[in-house]
Amino acid sequence: MSERAAPFYCPYCGDEDLRPSEEGHGAWECGACNRAFRLSFIGLLAKGLGRANAQGGSGT
Ligand SMILES: [Zn+2]
Repeated sequence: MSERAAPFYCPYCGDEDLRPSEEGHGAWECGACNRAFRLSFIGLLAKGLGRANAQGGSGT
């Protein structure tokens, strides 16, 4: 199980020049726009994955 989530693109400028930051786990630095950001796992969605909740959609 890997806890490492590596972004492919900078969420701010879209560049691929990302490197792990010394700020800590999950922190990344963008070499293009000089921004540092952190990826954090919030949790699972309560909705679930692709759950078909089509019961009584269109009716009377
Ligand atoms: Zn950037």
